[in-house]
Amino acid sequence: MKMILLALFVAVCGFAAERPNVIIIFADDLGYGDLGCYGHPSIRTPNLDRMAAEGMRFTDLYATAEVCTPSRAALLTGRYPIRNGMCHDRFRVLRRNSLGGLPPEEITLAAALKKQGYTTGMVGKWHLGNYENVITHHPMRHGFDFYFGLPHSNDMNPTPAAPKGATARLDQNPEWWAAPLWLGEKRIECPADQTTLTRRYAEQAVKFIRDNRKKPFFLYFAHTFPHVPLFASRKGSPRGLYGDVVEELDWSVGQILDALRREKLEKNTFVFFTSDNGPWLIMNQAGGSAGLLRDGKGSTFDGGMRVPGIAWWPGRVPAGVVTRDLACTMDLFATALSIAGAKIPTDRMIDGVDMMPVLTGRGASRREVFFYYRGAQLFAARKGRFKAHFITRSSYGKDDTQKHEPPLLYDLWADPSEQYDVAAQHPDVLADLAKEVECHRATIQPVKNQLVEALPATAQSFPR
Ligand code: MG
Repeated sequence: MKMILLALFVAVCGFAAERPNVIIIFADDLGYGDLGCYGHPSIRTPNLDRMAAEGMRFTDLYATAEVCTPSRAALLTGRYPIRNGMCHDRFRVLRRNSLGGLPPEEITLAAALKKQGYTTGMVGKWHLGNYENVITHHPMRHGFDFYFGLPHSNDMNPTPAAPKGATARLDQNPEWWAAPLWLGEKRIECPADQTTLTRRYAEQAVKFIRDNRKKPFFLYFAHTFPHVPLFASRKGSPRGLYGDVVEELDWSVGQILDALRREKLEKNTFVFFTSDNGPWLIMNQAGGSAGLLRDGKGSTFDGGMRVPGIAWWPGRVPAGVVTRDLACTMDLFATALSIAGAKIPTDRMIDGVDMMPVLTGRGASRREVFFYYRGAQLFAARKGRFKAHFITRSSYGKDDTQKHEPPLLYDLWADPSEQYDVAAQHPDVLADLAKEVECHRATIQPVKNQLVEALPATAQSFPR
């Protein structure tokens, strides 16, 4: 009997050891050029720089969409948002008065990991359904055991006191905004004190780690910033207010990694840091930088979607590696399931691929192609070093879409700023990319769009 119990104990412990913790830290509107380790000259990010030095930094990782809602849907479902109706050409994101949200039949990363015995927590911005309008859109109805955060972007609840153009102002006033802060399924503060939000998010995240240190956990830490309006509890960045915000975000990453080391969980926890889309350039000094990439948030040029990506898992992910392998945020879904020993759902199309071969340095990326959607339309496609633009349009301009026949073709290795069209030299590459798009399109089924239906009033025409 003793032997059987011992064998059972070993089996249970062995099982637990095979289920490492997973933490995804998701910044909002942080650009490719906004971190020290990605070349920013005056924003100080020692914690993220250290994370990159101790782990793997991606040069060619994409957010799956050019704006918030579809990007978050893709991260949490491992699917292009066109598959679940979480993207739209006109509305682009869920609005404050929206009634739609992530469909209940979607399998979120939280729900999938919960099934594997994980405790699941979310801190931060949701933006996958305004649960203040429809409670079933709440993160805790989508697989999360714990939640502390805002339902959507921090600019979606302006007060009558907010002047025109308040979002981009550097002299922010808390009285201009009334964002609701929720703990679990209860609104606990409105207006939320945004000045202390990043600090309180970090405190809640650290507490979640501490409370769950003895069992496998998944933490989705989706920052509210540096989305505008900007608020920070610290000052003094040479980059000004935007720098203060990013430096506090960097501080919070340090808090997470320190907590893991303190709890001796660092060798059993996979941490990934990235952003939901590129910098919001039309916000001027309140917006970030895409570095040498073209354009920003809202655009299918690389500045809108190629974002920082840092993986950290001491002992599993080799230290100090920079990879140019192609990857995207949907791949985090497949990677996290692989880490947890879970099977990828087979009853639906999953677009994410397991990044573990790249992350462990044991093989090449399984991702060959990436499709760039703006809203519900496929604008561009990348395979290897080449990217074809079938359609282009400025991020937020009122200009019409431009169709390109033949498509524009850029060699992103030779020309990361997408300046020199090489279509004439590579008809074979264009033909191959066109075929990839055709195959992809054949897998898309029409579904109900989630971004259209809304309550009357507070209609917003300005995409967030
Ligand atoms: Mg965003």
